[in-house]
Amino acid sequence: MSDPSCQDNGRRSLPEGLRPETLAIRTGLPRSQHGEHSEGLFLTTAYVQADAETSARKFANSEDFTYSRTSNPTVRSLEARMAALESTEGAIATSTGMSAILLLGMGLLKAGDHVICSRSVFGSTINLFAKEFGKFGVETSFVSQTDLAEWRAAIKPTTKLFFAETPTNPLTEICDIRALAELAHSAGAILAVDNTYSTPALQRPTEMGADIVMHSATKYMDGQGRVMAGALCGPNRFIRDVFGPVLRTVGMTLAPFNAWVVLKGLETMALRMKAQSEQALAVARWLEAQPEVARVYYPGLASHPQHELALRQQSGQGGAVLSFDVKGRHGESGPEAARAGAFHVIDSTRVVSIATNLGDTKTIITHPATTSHGRLTEAQRQAAGIGQGLIRLAVGLEHVDDICDDLARGLSTLRS
Ligand SMILES: *Cc1c(COP(=O)(O)O)cnc(C)c1O
Repeated sequence: MSDPSCQDNGRRSLPEGLRPETLAIRTGLPRSQHGEHSEGLFLTTAYVQADAETSARKFANSEDFTYSRTSNPTVRSLEARMAALESTEGAIATSTGMSAILLLGMGLLKAGDHVICSRSVFGSTINLFAKEFGKFGVETSFVSQTDLAEWRAAIKPTTKLFFAETPTNPLTEICDIRALAELAHSAGAILAVDNTYSTPALQRPTEMGADIVMHSATKYMDGQGRVMAGALCGPNRFIRDVFGPVLRTVGMTLAPFNAWVVLKGLETMALRMKAQSEQALAVARWLEAQPEVARVYYPGLASHPQHELALRQQSGQGGAVLSFDVKGRHGESGPEAARAGAFHVIDSTRVVSIATNLGDTKTIITHPATTSHGRLTEAQRQAAGIGQGLIRLAVGLEHVDDICDDLARGLSTLRS
């Protein structure tokens, strides 16, 4: 949880009204007595107390530092920085993005409660709600990412939580956060938004009415593919009063080293997101002009069906992830030719990484139909619009011409 009295150092507290770029660099706990300039990394499980009375008080009130499952100064600095960036009262860091959603569910839901979730969210999120929470008597309805009427029709008297992710993977569909928040609140439910793809550098869901923001900090917050981390950001009535006690008991605590890596990652996040977004737009435009590309999915393109909503929600930027459909190998149609075409483009690259991840400075190329969405049946994939010819690109910071040249190796020889 974040500490409201965070300051840059022991001498001066930070002034009010600082901008997000400054908060991302300056928010944290006060420096230690050594005056370290870069934030300290506290690898300690326990904390020595001045006397038994102090120890008793801290344990009774869960205050300050007693044991690192409960809190740790490095983790606390990261939480303060995340809360500042999402403009929420508090934040609570977790070991992974998935454990942040686990904490969300454990804190808010009980047997008999109902959840409404987009059916286009991250695959493990669907499994967590449908299978794992389902075991404990929590029911989830999965609805269209973009059709508000489906969300409305799914509401029950027991609906407690709306869960949305925008834009989605891999087709970059957008949901209208403001409209979903109004609908959730009219039903007496809470809206939680997975903001992993946009980060607060582009999108701040609570400013559009969302109650809780969830992050896989593994992605753009670290930004360089090094550590796993997650977080929930929101008002103290959730973060401090609901999620804090659950995390202390259950222990999906973030390791201090991982917290420190993400803390440093946040210092360059706004710059990286802006640069990677600009690169992705350039690659998307280039792909749209290639004859072997059937369709490009990218919110920053005017051809995206929700272009205006995306730019309004995402600070005028499309983000770093795009997808595109390649035409079939040898000009043939059908799923097999489409897969052969996609594999040819992927296997012809020599710079970008063939992997299934995103949020890195290194560009990553992925074939969703056989990886992230490989466990779906062909019919489910068709329904989700994820064809065999679809390729996802999480655009990094290499020179944009080198990224396009790398894609051109396969695209230009697709017919040969
Ligand atoms: C990766 C990801 C997650 C899960 O996060 P982990 O850190 O891998 O546990 C959740 N949501 C989205 C959108 C993701 O990309």
